[in-house]
Amino acid sequence: MIAKRYEPFWKTTPLEKMSPAEWESICDGCGKCCLQKLQDDDTEEVFYTNLACHQLNITSCQCKVYDTRQAKVASCITLTADQIDQFQWLPDTCSYRVLYETKELPNWHPLVVGNDKEMLRQGLTVRHYAINEQSVDEEDWETHIIKWVHGMPEPYDIT
Ligand code: SF4
Ligand code: SF4
Repeated sequence: MIAKRYEPFWKTTPLEKMSPAEWESICDGCGKCCLQKLQDDDTEEVFYTNLACHQLNITSCQCKVYDTRQAKVASCITLTADQIDQFQWLPDTCSYRVLYETKELPNWHPLVVGNDKEMLRQGLTVRHYAINEQSVDEEDWETHIIKWVHGMPEPYDIT
């Protein structure tokens, strides 16, 4: 008799059908969506900076006020499955976006590996390069724009 192959929930359950716990577990905890973003007024293109929201614990990549985040930070966005068609503003390595676009999770994902060691080993969280937004004048934020190449940040000059 051939044993039935076990398929993990992210391969069998669409994002919009996941339980709250499954949905939360798709987040790989990279912290990238907590970096400040700038938007071009003309093209509406979104640019990420290496400036972290002041409520992000940069070492752990955890929000310090997760349960009350939207009351504390007006610009904080809670991701929900009914926004799936708007996921293109997320970093292209964000696991929600990757799963939505490719139907697969990356091979370093904590759900695939069983822990976060591989993503930490590969330097895929913002802890290695983010700095507190409050340490830089807002008029200088443009000089902190980055782009990700294979998940790693590089300075990006938009001029
Ligand atoms: S970018 Fe995506 S995977 Fe990374 S912390 Fe934000 S929601 Fe989670
Ligand atoms: S309030 Fe928390 S979840 Fe929201 S952007 Fe800031 S650190 Fe991220």
